[in-house]
Amino acid sequence: MQPHLFVSVKKIKVCPMCGSTHIHYVAGMITGEKYKCEDCGYEGSLILEMDIEEYKRWMKSRGEKNGVER
Ligand SMILES: [Zn+2]
Repeated sequence: MQPHLFVSVKKIKVCPMCGSTHIHYVAGMITGEKYKCEDCGYEGSLILEMDIEEYKRWMKSRGEKNGVER
């Protein structure tokens, strides 16, 4: 097993669909971890992890892209 590198900086989990930070860890599946977003209902192993400064920048850049939501 190749261990992930965990840094001491606090990372927050972010929904890749809606940008919410209300992410719940659901279960360990065969494919690995699974998460669920409380806000949009997204479920999957793909979530974004970033620190608070990155998150602020990311949200800002999202907002500047015409505010298009899918
Ligand atoms: Zn979401």
